[in-house]
Amino acid sequence: MDSHKTDALYERFPHLYRERTAPLKSSKMGWGFQCEDGWHKIIYEMSKKIEKISNDGEFAPAITEVTKNEDGTLHVEARNITPPIADLITAAQEASRLTCELCSYSPAYLRGPGSSQEGHIACGRCVGKAEGQHTPRKSRRPKKPLRAPDTIIIKR
Ligand SMILES: [Zn+2]
Repeated sequence: MDSHKTDALYERFPHLYRERTAPLKSSKMGWGFQCEDGWHKIIYEMSKKIEKISNDGEFAPAITEVTKNEDGTLHVEARNITPPIADLITAAQEASRLTCELCSYSPAYLRGPGSSQEGHIACGRCVGKAEGQHTPRKSRRPKKPLRAPDTIIIKR
């Protein structure tokens, strides 16, 4: 996610994302939001709902990692969660399943091998745009990288 959107989340929910400055060995939040900009709204809404039912003490929920599952959906890990908060995280994951990771359009779905957006949940427009379907050219442009350079993917 780009730094502007990342900072907006940190500024709006400083306590929920307080582990953003924690050492990476105790929290992965230092990596930032490891997904594209299209899911900003899903993460924002989830954070807002979590904050609403949380206090701001030491044992309040803290998000420790935002990355992606094997199936391309949003993956969120948190500390000090209660069942209602776990439900909010699950709801965000389910919303991501049909939401374009790049532009937030819905419906979108996971793109497989051979797609310009392999591994991303992407709408038809973003797939077509990356493949240049609508602007055919004689000389092929160099392929764009599939991910923004500031996105770091951790394999585990
Ligand atoms: Zn899209």
